[in-house]
Amino acid sequence: MNVEQAYKDANALLEGHFLLASGNHSNRYLQSAKVLEDPKKAALLTDTLAQMIQNAGIEVDTVCAPALGGVLAGYELARSLNVRSIFVEKKEGGMELRRGFEVTQGEKIIICEDIITTGGSALKAAQAIEALGGKIVAFASLANRGFCKRVGGNGTAKAECALPNDVPLFALDDFTFEMFTAEECPMCKEGGRAIKPGSKG
Ligand code: ZN
Repeated sequence: MNVEQAYKDANALLEGHFLLASGNHSNRYLQSAKVLEDPKKAALLTDTLAQMIQNAGIEVDTVCAPALGGVLAGYELARSLNVRSIFVEKKEGGMELRRGFEVTQGEKIIICEDIITTGGSALKAAQAIEALGGKIVAFASLANRGFCKRVGGNGTAKAECALPNDVPLFALDDFTFEMFTAEECPMCKEGGRAIKPGSKG
């Protein structure tokens, strides 16, 4: 499947002049939630991701997502893999399992995100699960922003990647965008003003 086209069709891959969470500017932005707006298309994406995970011979009992961003992707991936779906939520300094969700000793768990940038939230989710005795067998994401290396991808892991080297990351595609500091941004130099799409607007 053409993942980039799927993102474009869903208006999830924006073109313009954007202020990223890192403070850098870019001419492209992934509005990840938009690609899951159509449940049937969302299922196609996670079916493809599940196939990659199964082809690699990864055994999994449960998919766990960091809330809020990863929940829909994690739920759909769990459905595609026909396993249990849980999520962890932010607490001071990390993430925790709430709402009666439980993890058993040695349970094989995939941490699933909608997008992996540096993987900070995914790492916190993994730490919360490991503290309860779960075993992280893989990380999974629909989109990989190219800071971390995904299985089958051409890129290399950058220093910013927070994910461990010894656990595989599965993602549908790499989305590596050109980024500029505000001082060096060519669009700013032309008089443009960066907008902050993010999750809040
Ligand atoms: Zn700019």
